[in-house]
Amino acid sequence: MPVYEYRCLDCKRRFDKRLSFAEYDNAVVLCPHCGGKNVTRKIGRVRVSRSEESRLQSLENMSDPARMADLDRDPRELGRMMRSMSAELGEDMGSEFHEVVNRLEAGQTPDEIEKSIPDLGSANDDGAGFTGGLDD
Ligand SMILES: [Zn+2]
Repeated sequence: MPVYEYRCLDCKRRFDKRLSFAEYDNAVVLCPHCGGKNVTRKIGRVRVSRSEESRLQSLENMSDPARMADLDRDPRELGRMMRSMSAELGEDMGSEFHEVVNRLEAGQTPDEIEKSIPDLGSANDDGAGFTGGLDD
């Protein structure tokens, strides 16, 4: 039975929950720390080998050179990819990340965004910025 990793939005603590695939669709998951129902599953952190493989597969697809070339031409597609990557990792990438994604989805190119957000370079250094998140 797979173990899912959750994070409680109320008390910000993480916990694991063991659910069968049948249970997963209908289960109401409560935070064991505070009893809150306001929990999110950390997608992609399922500790079962098959899901781990499919997660790796999806990361491989993201770094496919042909696909990246397409992303270069379409900032909106890049924005969508970054947004879904962030959702898959289940991490809050920070306000700067969201700013970049919003601008990409509005059609700005990465070059334009870099020029208009001077701090972007420094955010990359701690892995929470523009390119962060893939090297888990
Ligand atoms: Zn809680």
